[in-house]
Amino acid sequence: MPFDDLLLFANAAINSIKPGSFIHYVTPWGHTEYEVIGSTARYSIILDMKTTPIPYSCTLSETHIMCKHILATLIARRLNRCSMRSAGPNDLAVIFARQFPIPEQKTANE
Ligand SMILES: [Zn+2]
Repeated sequence: MPFDDLLLFANAAINSIKPGSFIHYVTPWGHTEYEVIGSTARYSIILDMKTTPIPYSCTLSETHIMCKHILATLIARRLNRCSMRSAGPNDLAVIFARQFPIPEQKTANE
C-alpha cells in the first residue's frame, strides 16, 4: 500500500473513534469481542484469535484482511477508549440478532 494511502487509511480509522462507540464484551468462558457503533452500522470485531492464521475479524468486511474497523478497534483498545461489559450467551444472541437481522420474508404478491 503506498504511504499516502496508508496515511488515509490510518486517518479514517482514527477519525472513527468516538466516545462510547467501542464496547468490549467479555464472557465468563473467556470469549472476548468488540461491538462497534459506527455512523451507519453496528458491527463486531474479534481480535487476538489464537486458532486461525489471521488473528482478527470484522463482520463488515468480507474482502479485506485488515480493514479500518479492525485498525480503529486496535487503536481504541490501546488508548483505553473501550467500555468493558460482561456478556452471557443471551447477551451475545442479542448482539448477533441486532447485527444480523433476519431478512423480511417476501409475500406471495411480490
Ligand atoms: Zn471492517
